[in-house]
Amino acid sequence: MNYYGNPITRLIEELSLLPGIGGKSAQRLAFHIINMPHEKVENLSTAIMEAKENVRYCSCCQNLTDEDPCPVCSNPNRDGRVIMVVEDPRDMAAYEKTKEYHGVYHVLHGAISPMLGIGPQDIKIKELLARMGENEVDELILATNPNVEGEATAMYISRLIKPLGVKVTRIANGVPVGGDLEYIDEVTLSRALEGRREM
Ligand SMILES: [Zn+2]
Repeated sequence: MNYYGNPITRLIEELSLLPGIGGKSAQRLAFHIINMPHEKVENLSTAIMEAKENVRYCSCCQNLTDEDPCPVCSNPNRDGRVIMVVEDPRDMAAYEKTKEYHGVYHVLHGAISPMLGIGPQDIKIKELLARMGENEVDELILATNPNVEGEATAMYISRLIKPLGVKVTRIANGVPVGGDLEYIDEVTLSRALEGRREM
């Protein structure tokens, strides 16, 4: 059904493909955009295109970045011998907000989930291994989410890395089970980091 004419129907369709945007929200956003001043719409579309074109994975930690290596990896004040493994760039941002962590990161972009058919080869584990082969590492902190997938991923990586003689730790359970690191406050995250235990 095409009540509004093709261009707006298409806009609604495209918006409804975004995560968390249902049909009604897509419609609301579409009408909002149509009523925005021309210049604001241009700013929005330019921001989307520029983010897409200029953001890539850091060749070292796999974080999303517009400069490679990313600002964390290229910061001489960060301790490159301590690597924190997180699932998502948002988890990394959450730890950065605590200002308590001075090591570097490795972003997996997901977690192992047999239910969803996501295996170790589908996330950035081989990049982690390659990186550990090239650099001296004292400690690997596994900060994957405290849910089934996150625990399975931590276990898997721990089994791979421990034989290399590197200390492998897991963040403490200060984080509620099934929680999403992104939504946890900074104090809880700092405690989880402080209370990490060797695996
Ligand atoms: Zn990086």
